[in-house]
Amino acid sequence: MLNDIQEVLFDAETIQNKVKELGEQLSQDFEGRNPLVICVLKGAFIFMADLVKQLSIPVELDFMAVSSYGASTKSSGVVKIIKDLDVTVEGREVLVVEDIIDSGLTLSYLIDVLERRNAKSVTVVTLFDKPARRTVELEADYKGFSLPDEFIVGYGLDYAEHYRNLPFVGILKPEVYSK
Ligand code: 5GP
Ligand code: MG
Ligand code: MG
Repeated sequence: MLNDIQEVLFDAETIQNKVKELGEQLSQDFEGRNPLVICVLKGAFIFMADLVKQLSIPVELDFMAVSSYGASTKSSGVVKIIKDLDVTVEGREVLVVEDIIDSGLTLSYLIDVLERRNAKSVTVVTLFDKPARRTVELEADYKGFSLPDEFIVGYGLDYAEHYRNLPFVGILKPEVYSK
């Protein structure tokens, strides 16, 4: 698995420092509030776990799975709810935790769903952002790292369901894609 990595872009410590920073900022900004924190599976699961440990406010957690990619590295443009929330968001302040925003299609769809379900507010935190690749205009309220147009894996992010368990984030050797 480590043999497949061409370059490490963000090592574990760099990621942890950023997550801590985001957690402290969110704790300040959500002081006195009780958001429902929604993890967008599967990619955000590690970020979510690390982020909530850095929150000093009371939170409830829920999980949602959407599909947009399949095993490819490009968005199909089709977003589908694979696993829905257990709780209702009506009247709730919602904090959506995303791994990465690329085209923005997944997130714009999700925000739309949450708004139609009458969430009181929808705030988005993403660990990674690829602003150059947007097809819909959309910005996260909080973001960790911006990166150029490169396909990354690790820290929750997969290629064909592999590499999610890497504690760092990197790019794959080109030959991995042609396997
Ligand atoms: P979007 O709908 O914004 O194009 O894509 C969002 C989803 O695509 C992310 O939540 C993630 O699952 C996947 N994705 C986008 N860029 C990357 C990337 O560089 N690496 C990986 N592993 N997944 C990505
Ligand atoms: Mg995601
Ligand atoms: Mg994926």
